[in-house]
Amino acid sequence: MPHVIVQNCCNDASCVPECPVDCIHPTPEEPGFATAEMLYIDPDVCIDCGACIDACPVSAITTDYELTEEMAPFEEINADYYRAVGSAADLDHPYTDPQLGRRRPPDGAETLRVAVVGAGAAGHYAVSELQNRIDVRCEIDVYERLPEPGGLVRFGVAPDHASTKKVQEQFAAARGRNDVSVHLGVAVGEDVTHEELARTHHAVIYAVGALHGRPLPLPGGGLPVVAAAADFVAWYNGHPDLAGRRFDLSHERVVVLGNGNVALDVARVLTADPEVFVGTDMSDEAVEALRASHVREVVVLARRGPDHAAFTAPELVGLARAVPVVVDPSDLENLDAEPADPQAAHYVRQKLALLRGLAGTSPAEGRRVVLRFGTRPTAITATDDGASVAFDDHGTESSLDCGQVLAAIGLRGTAVPGLPFDEAGGVIPNADGRVLGDDGAPLPGVYASGWIKRGATGVIGTNRYDARGTVDAVVTDFHEGLLTAE
Ligand code: NAP
Repeated sequence: MPHVIVQNCCNDASCVPECPVDCIHPTPEEPGFATAEMLYIDPDVCIDCGACIDACPVSAITTDYELTEEMAPFEEINADYYRAVGSAADLDHPYTDPQLGRRRPPDGAETLRVAVVGAGAAGHYAVSELQNRIDVRCEIDVYERLPEPGGLVRFGVAPDHASTKKVQEQFAAARGRNDVSVHLGVAVGEDVTHEELARTHHAVIYAVGALHGRPLPLPGGGLPVVAAAADFVAWYNGHPDLAGRRFDLSHERVVVLGNGNVALDVARVLTADPEVFVGTDMSDEAVEALRASHVREVVVLARRGPDHAAFTAPELVGLARAVPVVVDPSDLENLDAEPADPQAAHYVRQKLALLRGLAGTSPAEGRRVVLRFGTRPTAITATDDGASVAFDDHGTESSLDCGQVLAAIGLRGTAVPGLPFDEAGGVIPNADGRVLGDDGAPLPGVYASGWIKRGATGVIGTNRYDARGTVDAVVTDFHEGLLTAE
């Protein structure tokens, strides 16, 4: 009975080294890992030993006979991956132990002192990658602006994705070790300066994430009726910065711009039964607002076709499980040629197959999410009871009235006082995690990890391998004598 990876896979690949038959792919060494929507178990190679189940930090692996009806599509989703890329038995990128070739530090060797700024996924993975090194002893200080740790796992992951949030148990274990001191409620740049951290640590790793929505570059994009979907997400998750913020849920329709996973999250939250959020990370304020909501329909406008959809297949399955999803069958015709890369082509085919399964159904009543494609927004205007969103619909001018407009067009980081910042990319300029000064040369002892390093791409576990690269740079520079600390 093979095992199956289901919706809440976090991609951190903890399961990969545990598998005795290398049947979980893509591995971090494979080129497709960075863009993987999730990891997959080859049912023909799996020996049903259960080792991966114990290793998974988010309980996303189950046996096929224990699959619930809701998770059933994932049996095919796992198998399908290997139909596209070939059998796991033939893939020649087995997991290699990152510790191989490293030497223990000699007795009396200097301890590497590192400040990690940000206690979200990126910060925690930086901590655990430092702890995993056998070639250096570390002392780590974690600084977090908010009074509680977790970053976007706490304030970004949707409240009904409780199993995804379980990764915080792994983070708490890393944080709880005696080589780590955690300083909550301390804002670097306000309560303590970068210079102070740099003086007292060999290295400062910035893992401050990308919390804010990208500004909407449209006439009317800055109107009060338009909010960043990222703010709506932070608000319903009880982020202290958003307490008391008002979103207009008095109209029957909300329009969401962009169709990434954030768009699908907000569409699901707006249309799901509010009672499923009781007792979750959702704030009482948000539960009450959703109970009083008049929203019946969320329209998700994507400027490109379904073959370019930014959402991942697992999240589409999750949306369709929670609420009726409306797709126009004509949107699934006349598509672009498939990408040449087999993994990318597989993802396109898989999403199209799921969308075809949904197409043509149109619930007569009840709440629903409408996925529209080829609809490029052109302007937003305020109306008496909300907003009107104008868009180009396959070459024809069209518009939709709604109460609230949510822009889910990607996330960006914000500048840290005293550090260089790439305004266009919303990241700290860096080379392999080494922060670059204005002259393009690395600033000694300053590093970046996670979304502030590479932009808001990938899922939670993608940050683990990103952190491994940054920690490699820190330790290499330390061993080369480039880092000093008082
Ligand atoms: P995203 O995946 O980058 O998607 C952005 C969307 O906005 C795309 O559809 C894009 O269209 C569209 N867009 C960009 N600029 C636009 C414009 N000017 N006008 C109209 N549309 C525009 O961003 P995201 O949804 O914010 O997600 C950020 C990251 O968080 C992603 O890596 C995502 O996977 C991750 N995340 C994961 C989960 C999960 O795994 N459950 C949940 C939430 C977020 P084009 O494609 O045409 O550019």
